[in-house]
Amino acid sequence: MADVIKLLPDHVANQIAAGEVVQRPASVVKELLENAIDAGADAIKLIVKDGGKTLIQVVDNGDGMSETDARLAFERHATSKINKAEDLFNLNTKGFRGEALASIAAIAHVDLQTKKDDAEVGTAIKIAGSSIKAQEVVVTPKGTSLAVKNLFFNIPARRNFLKSDQVELRHITDEFHRVALVHPNISFQFYNNGAEYFNLPIESHRQRIVHVFGNKMNERLVPVSEDTDVVKIHGFICKPEFARKSRGEQFFFANNRYIKSPYLNHAVTAAFEGLLKSDTHPGYFLFLEVNPATIDINIHPTKTEVKFDDEHTLYAILRSAIKHSLGQFNVAPVLDFESNHDLDMPYAYKDKSTQMPTVSVDAAFNPFQEKKSGSNAGIKVGLPKKESTKGWENLYEFEGGEPTNFSSIQVESSFETTSLFTEQSDNETGQNLFQLQRKYVVSTVKSGLLLINQNRAHQRILFERFLKDITVNKAVSQQLLFPVHLEYGQKDLSILKSLNEVLENLGFDIHFDNNGAIQVNGVPTLLAENNVSTVLDTVLATYDNEQATDSFSQAEIMARLLSTSLAIRTGQELTIEAQQNLVNDLFACKEPKLSPHNKKVYTILGLNEIENKF
Ligand code: ADP
Ligand code: MG
Repeated sequence: MADVIKLLPDHVANQIAAGEVVQRPASVVKELLENAIDAGADAIKLIVKDGGKTLIQVVDNGDGMSETDARLAFERHATSKINKAEDLFNLNTKGFRGEALASIAAIAHVDLQTKKDDAEVGTAIKIAGSSIKAQEVVVTPKGTSLAVKNLFFNIPARRNFLKSDQVELRHITDEFHRVALVHPNISFQFYNNGAEYFNLPIESHRQRIVHVFGNKMNERLVPVSEDTDVVKIHGFICKPEFARKSRGEQFFFANNRYIKSPYLNHAVTAAFEGLLKSDTHPGYFLFLEVNPATIDINIHPTKTEVKFDDEHTLYAILRSAIKHSLGQFNVAPVLDFESNHDLDMPYAYKDKSTQMPTVSVDAAFNPFQEKKSGSNAGIKVGLPKKESTKGWENLYEFEGGEPTNFSSIQVESSFETTSLFTEQSDNETGQNLFQLQRKYVVSTVKSGLLLINQNRAHQRILFERFLKDITVNKAVSQQLLFPVHLEYGQKDLSILKSLNEVLENLGFDIHFDNNGAIQVNGVPTLLAENNVSTVLDTVLATYDNEQATDSFSQAEIMARLLSTSLAIRTGQELTIEAQQNLVNDLFACKEPKLSPHNKKVYTILGLNEIENKF
């Protein structure tokens, strides 16, 4: 039988390997920046076009390459950084695999220009799909310029897989942050589509952090410093009151390399114990130095996960160092744990903000009242009241209870489905409603007991309202007497800018200053002034995390996250009116059964089930 095994041609092997090294434009940015740093540059320029899809260029003033090296650099396993396996245990460079340039050259058009300090002239090389297309002598300054154009030009499937320019730029910015933060002794310029995006001079660690994340960061940072035989730690943590919903400002660097370590993150969080609001994460910028022989950076192909020899000791040292800083700098708990933040936006507040035409009491469907108190207690969701009947019918069908007894229809009501509810009123307000464990709103219905999860129900109500605001008619903005001033870093600003249209439709009125600050002049009517920054933080955190799930439209994501952050919570006490409004509004929704997160909103405990218990 004929032999079937063949060696893959180099360019095919390179393309396959490229899949591991280059997932997206940001991976190229990382590799090129690291090469520039390894070459000893102290000024690095990054130029990006169209989210890196059209161009990624890194220009450095480092050592440069000789003509031979310039050609060799694109060969697989060509590296100047290690000679033998043992060198792996004493690495001082970022690169060592000798794979990056070979991989990049396999899947893009690459233009290299490079010159060593002592050389008269430099070398220019053009490569596409692993083959050298041109080489010439050029006059160029000392250092290297490497331009990567048309990424994945020869792998359409990969190219199509890339996300929008905005999203790719965000990934690139993340990589840029990771490199720039740990090298304040190098100046960085970053141009995006021809405009300056970052311009970071040589500076201190603290200044670099502030430069990258905005001036507001300065007052938030608390220094951390610890010097032991096992590890040297320095850097900063953010004061607990500035903990954010996103994990965006958490950075560990080990031996000048950005790393991810859930274990060490736990150590930091443990040190903050008791100082953080739930669901918030402390910011930190921690630089660890360990003996290179005690760290294995090789266990993960993209090299952000590491293994330390003595993790337990590291954990303990880190936690105590941070506790020490928190104590030493007098970062006492400033959070008022007693105050109920939900009270910032009382449910009743909604009544004042109603913008939809109110519906008179006769037309409004109210299953709980014989005829009383009027419709002014109603929260207008803005859906035609007809919908409410539909809602009740759905409810009934959904739970599959007994057939409705239409003979018991109340005379006042023109809606047959009223009969879903029992006729008698159980309390002085005329409602047979009560709250259970400050979590459920409970009512008797004909087929049994209706249990509504108050948080999810309100999420659903708000979700539909916000979605409508965004997509159908712009919401009215509640103008603030005192505009709220906030500061953000470049990345957050660009997210906010890209969302501005949606935010405007929701009622936000945001003015962007030139210097990284924003001024919020108006907010959605439901939002209390002192919640503005928390909500925008949630917006930013969500957009950071939801990059991958593009299947949701912007409007949907936004409506979902706003409804999630503004909905009444478990634990919040509701007046009878509020409970009633909640029920009415819920069943006026198009889809009352499910929360915007697809969780069950209500259930009915059937009479049969109840009877079976006896
Ligand atoms: P690695 O960084 O793992 O060695 P690369 O494929 O990234 O592998 O680079 C291959 C070699 O090319 C490097 O070892 C280095 O000698 C050379 N090189 C790459 N980029 C630069 C640069 N910007 N300046 C000088 N030399 C470079
Ligand atoms: Mg490299």
